[in-house]
Amino acid sequence: MGKEILRNLPKVDIILNNEIITSCGSELSGEMKKEVVQGYLGELRDAALKGEICEIPSKEEIVLELKKRISAADSYSLKRVINATGVVLHTNLGRAPLGREMTEHIVTELTGYNTLEYDLDKAARGSRYTHVEKLLCDITGAEAAMVVNNNAAAVFLVLNTLAQKKNVAISRGELVEIGGAFRVPEIMERSWADLLEIGTTNKTHLFDYERAIDENNAEIILKVHNSNFKVIGFTEEVDINELCELGKNRGVKVIFDLGAAFMTDSFLPGALKGQVPSVKSCVDAGCDIVCFSGDKIFGSTQAGIILGNKPDIEKVKKNPFTRMFRTDKLDLCVLEKTLRYYKDYPVAIKKIPALNMLFAKDDELKKKAEFILSEVQKDIREKVDIKIVNTEDEPGGGSMPGVYLPGYALEIRAEDLSADEIEEKLRKNAVPIISRIYNGGVLISVRTLMPEDEYEIVEAITGL
Ligand SMILES: *Cc1c(COP(=O)(O)O)cnc(C)c1O
Repeated sequence: MGKEILRNLPKVDIILNNEIITSCGSELSGEMKKEVVQGYLGELRDAALKGEICEIPSKEEIVLELKKRISAADSYSLKRVINATGVVLHTNLGRAPLGREMTEHIVTELTGYNTLEYDLDKAARGSRYTHVEKLLCDITGAEAAMVVNNNAAAVFLVLNTLAQKKNVAISRGELVEIGGAFRVPEIMERSWADLLEIGTTNKTHLFDYERAIDENNAEIILKVHNSNFKVIGFTEEVDINELCELGKNRGVKVIFDLGAAFMTDSFLPGALKGQVPSVKSCVDAGCDIVCFSGDKIFGSTQAGIILGNKPDIEKVKKNPFTRMFRTDKLDLCVLEKTLRYYKDYPVAIKKIPALNMLFAKDDELKKKAEFILSEVQKDIREKVDIKIVNTEDEPGGGSMPGVYLPGYALEIRAEDLSADEIEEKLRKNAVPIISRIYNGGVLISVRTLMPEDEYEIVEAITGL
């Protein structure tokens, strides 16, 4: 019986010449496509011989299944998705989005060769660090600056350079774990700094730092922003201005790992004011070293940005580990572009997508939601229901825990689809849409949509 039905199994060449098959999987070579086809036809043959199926699917069905398999084989693993979660710096979705202008800058400057380590004036070898150092100093007021691969590397490198075999005082409330394997006590141990825990989990006073210096020979004060959690209630920490003053008076260095930070406190809307210390305020306070991530609130690519006094930054640059943590041309190219926007803060807010989303005004968000709603309503299936609801969006990226940004979302429900099914269909869209389920409805937050996402969203919802 099994053998007889094999007569209905189409030939590989016939399938490969089918119009639908020739037009899909455009980046797959002919050989790769053939493998997919042979693989599926082979599966059908085995199933027929084992008696698992009693007839071969029709040619149309076979072509349809193969179209899916070929498209899947042709699809990239790291690819564009639409972030409809309302979480701006979504750690799983690549943190800060770069936007078209920053990515086009990469195409313009990096398609061929570039000046990564070449000094055009001197016709001689240059340093990759020069491309962004002056901009960083101009914008923040720091004396010197450098950039490494990410902020975890920055913290390690700074401690390894400046705090090796020295007593480093840090508040017990700041011995944090930042996700992955980045745990402050372990990073300190590996950088050969001697950890001096002071204060308590909820309260650390200035006198704790004074005692650490006077009684335990602390030579460095490390402050770490507790990025991804909030201690509430009976709490106290010492303000960075006071710490820097203490440091100056006693000849003790102050290092601040800011993690996620705005460049300045100016222009911040009410909901974001005073939530995190700004880079500029820490430089102004007199920190010896300040470091932060390039792809969190700063809104650019992955990088660890280190600001500080010239002698210390020079020492960090000479640390042999620096070579292991160096940034590449792609990151430096994007950083330079981002920093140029920061020369004029209102321009930065407009041009840097993450800042734009964090600063988005109520009426802009509402308009965006209303536009999508009106487009969707032109063509929506009768059993699908959509309306605008209020949401609480989040900055994300462990930047401002407990801070919610009032926003708008499209809430989708359907008579014949569960919320899980809607969420899955959106996630499996040609450009995957990452949404969330709340109160039985599926929410598409508009804050985190990029301009080019709106069309895809409308198509996907009307196709439900
Ligand atoms: C995020 C963060 C880090 C790690 O930065 P990466 O850029 O992810 O390497 C270190 N310290 C703090 C306080 C952070 O918030």
